[in-house]
Amino acid sequence: MTTDLSPAQKHALLTDFEEDELLAGHQVLDFINTLTGWSLEEPLDRLDNYIRFAQWSVVAGVMEPELADIIAMKASLEPEEASQALTFAKNLRALMHQILAAFAAGQQPDYDDMVAFEAFWQHSVAAHRLVFLDDHIEVQPVAFTDLTIIMDLLTRDALDLMKRLPDKRLAVCGNEACGWLYFKSSPRAKEPFCGGSACASQKHLA
Ligand SMILES: [Zn+2]
Repeated sequence: MTTDLSPAQKHALLTDFEEDELLAGHQVLDFINTLTGWSLEEPLDRLDNYIRFAQWSVVAGVMEPELADIIAMKASLEPEEASQALTFAKNLRALMHQILAAFAAGQQPDYDDMVAFEAFWQHSVAAHRLVFLDDHIEVQPVAFTDLTIIMDLLTRDALDLMKRLPDKRLAVCGNEACGWLYFKSSPRAKEPFCGGSACASQKHLA
């Protein structure tokens, strides 16, 4: 088993985001998987700046392209705020990795992690409102211009995902140089590797 990424794997992970690389089965898992090598000292992080984060949010289906363009423009005008918003989002990403890895292992998430997630959830709730349409109610963002909007949308999606857990298909990739989260095709499927860029060559060996 490899414990580091090859130059070719690093190159694959540093190119632009493509829809066909969103493999995990849920946008929150795809968000977690923007970092490769969760147990490595120097993991590879694809979200190296806020603009990249906005680009990713479009490919992952979290933001509409026009709205992502507006938020990316704002990020370029307010680089310090954008950097801080990206740091918050990465804190959410690390937290979701912890919590969902616990679910995947059949364990209860750490209490402190759940308290920390609750703070993200409360921030997300404050960024949403209820809209009463003809025959139903929708939860919509108050504004798409806050730099924390992508994080708030992902927090909302993360809660929706967690409410569906436990799910025996949820797994952490067995490749130490990867650590991605993904849904297996069935609860009992023997699929120890995620099939992402760092593991494509290993999946067929499983
Ligand atoms: Zn993997």
